[in-house]
Amino acid sequence: MHATYEPFFHTGKTIAEYGEYTVIQCESCGFAHCLPIPEYTDLKSIYQKDYYTKIKPDYIERAEKDRAWHEMIHNHRLKVIEGLTPGRNLLEVGSGPGLFLNCARQRGWQTLGFEPSKEAWLYSREILHLNVKNEFFGADDSDALPKFDAICLSLVLEHIRDPQEMMNHVKAHLMPGGVVCIVVPNDFNDLQTILCAEKERHKWWVAPPHHINYFTHASLAGFLQRSGLKVVKQETTFPLELFLLLGFDYTADDLLGRKCHDLRMQFEQKLEQLGLGTLQCDLYDVFLKHGLGRHAVAYAVL
Ligand SMILES: [Zn+2]
Repeated sequence: MHATYEPFFHTGKTIAEYGEYTVIQCESCGFAHCLPIPEYTDLKSIYQKDYYTKIKPDYIERAEKDRAWHEMIHNHRLKVIEGLTPGRNLLEVGSGPGLFLNCARQRGWQTLGFEPSKEAWLYSREILHLNVKNEFFGADDSDALPKFDAICLSLVLEHIRDPQEMMNHVKAHLMPGGVVCIVVPNDFNDLQTILCAEKERHKWWVAPPHHINYFTHASLAGFLQRSGLKVVKQETTFPLELFLLLGFDYTADDLLGRKCHDLRMQFEQKLEQLGLGTLQCDLYDVFLKHGLGRHAVAYAVL
């Protein structure tokens, strides 16, 4: 993928510093990203070898423990996708352990995943028996792939050198009228910046070289439109920063962070159990209107 990467002039206001990296609000790209942009060879090593072993060693174990909550969210997103396309074949780029693909398959989709990490790929293959390639999407043989009715990238665009090049690959493998579902962290949102200014906290969400790109709801939508897609729906997820307002400063406390995550899961699963899903959607739409929520979710069509 790096061979076709064409560098161009990245310029914009500096919004964060982190070690050797500077995060700029890039005017050329239309979203924030760090400079220098990490080398492809370094990223290859991170995502093929280190991500699920050294950086997030308990990710798969946690995904299993939180499986019911993940599946609730995956099924919601698949329902939205099914409302936008009558199609039945779905590609997930960066499919991790495969829980999303597994839900899609249970709903009748024909599925394919690309996952560079050997550990995550093995789990999706050996435990879930999914069709997943242990490669980066966009590697040489992807030209031979069929076209898909839906292509999903959850927590991928923030990790890669060139999101625009990725979207070009995605579009090349999407059927006319096909749906793209993108999930990225919603960073530099108002709650984060206000809470940083208030207590001189460090910008805890800035994490190069793992997070290279920093999107908001608005910049994600703008990026997709400029990529030639039509954004038809946006959603947000629980604003974890609410815990800071409640006095739980999880930003430098992993255990407390885990507790906050558990409470957020409990809140959402309880709403679902009590038949209050519509209330949750309405509530989160208000957060979205204010640019808040931990993740920006966008559905776009070609
Ligand atoms: Zn740029």
